[in-house]
Amino acid sequence: MPTRRRLLGAAAAALAAPSLVRAQGAARVVVVGGGFGGATAARTLKTLQPALQVTLVEPNPIFTACPFSNEVLAALRDIDRQQFRYDGVRKAGVILAKTSATSVDARARTVTVADGSTLDWDRLVLSPGIDIDWTALPGYGREAAEIMPHAWKAGAQTLLLRRQLQAMKDGGLVVISAPANPFRCPPGPYERASLIAYWLSIWKPRSKLLILDAKDGFSKQRLFQNGWAELYPGRIEWVPLSQGGKVTSVDPATLTLVTDFGRHQAAVANVIPPQKAAAIAQHAGVADRTGWCPVEPVAFESTLQPGIHVLGDAAIMGAMPKSAFAANAQAKVCAAAVVALLAGGKPADPILINTCYSLLAPDYGISIAGVYRPDRGRLIEIPGAGGASPLDVVGGFRGQEALFATSWFDTITAEVFG
Ligand code: FAD
Repeated sequence: MPTRRRLLGAAAAALAAPSLVRAQGAARVVVVGGGFGGATAARTLKTLQPALQVTLVEPNPIFTACPFSNEVLAALRDIDRQQFRYDGVRKAGVILAKTSATSVDARARTVTVADGSTLDWDRLVLSPGIDIDWTALPGYGREAAEIMPHAWKAGAQTLLLRRQLQAMKDGGLVVISAPANPFRCPPGPYERASLIAYWLSIWKPRSKLLILDAKDGFSKQRLFQNGWAELYPGRIEWVPLSQGGKVTSVDPATLTLVTDFGRHQAAVANVIPPQKAAAIAQHAGVADRTGWCPVEPVAFESTLQPGIHVLGDAAIMGAMPKSAFAANAQAKVCAAAVVALLAGGKPADPILINTCYSLLAPDYGISIAGVYRPDRGRLIEIPGAGGASPLDVVGGFRGQEALFATSWFDTITAEVFG
């Protein structure tokens, strides 16, 4: 575990560009969270300005990626293909602090880590992802999640849900509950339903899948529903909010999901509950009453705590969805802005892109893309600049999109962790 003294020692080696040299040494940026946003931000900071002292605070030696974890559920890949070490980040010159951030003092400009030591910063970047909101769904706490897994943080939960599916009797009902917006990965529950249906059609052909939804619409809805009709006729039922889809409580003892309209007993229950920015964002005072972190749309600096930047799933990014693609794009913009601010400059207005691929089967992919820019204090989508996959296609179009999806995952993980 790095101590403050060791970290300051490492700073001496990083002295270089005069514009960034402070009276005591190189300017210091601490990045909290080594996921898609944080690891990208740390690497980009070092690439743009090697003189910076960049410390990445992340407790886990191995990152387990959520994108493509739905393939793990469907036994289309092993979990180890989702796992990445931080060797590439370290080789890029980032100091790794293998510990958790426990609190932030915005006035003193310090982060306290698990052993009580502190790290000083001139700018702090938070990309800690999400926490499950354990208070939001009656009956659903940490113990219930061991019976009705959320699998919305990849790793042990993913494997638990996969084991439950494999142990289920043929003919059993799989129930997925999808939360209201905003939440991590808007198309994720529906990709999950598709890939579980794919797996059921091979291994448990008498089983069905029910999606209980707290919304009346969802990302790429027509593409998903057309695909379900084509690939899995009669297997997936989607119940929207207006038809009683919102789960109001759960009973893990009987694997029951309760809605205003009735009770649904599952053989396997995948409860994807409401979420919020991870705990450190709450402790740092950058989250508002919604549980998420408001930021300005150019450097993603907190509107609640100056000097602290928040990106990725934890932040409210206007029209931009919570995705790994988005977190990676925001991290590059944020890193460039932080370098400019530390040099006394003004960050340029960014243009950001997000693309979300989803698989309905191993050879059936769909996508949606958006382009975003700042407008009156928030990120808005530029009309007509993005779009979704066409509804009607011929030939191998969906197969090609499935290949694009896999290539995207391989490329982004190589860029961030490789
Ligand atoms: P994360 O990647 O979750 O990283 C957060 C990191 O912060 C973690 O490593 C955590 O350990 C660390 N951390 C938390 N608290 C602390 C602390 N106190 N101190 C130190 N470190 C801390 N996105 C896509 O673009 N495409 C997809 O196809 C896609 N598919 C998905 C499928 C599923 C099933 C799910 C659940 C998500 C999917 N996503 C997808 C969304 C994507 O995983 C997230 O949007 C992305 O991981 C967000 O990046 P982040 O940096 O905000 O958070």
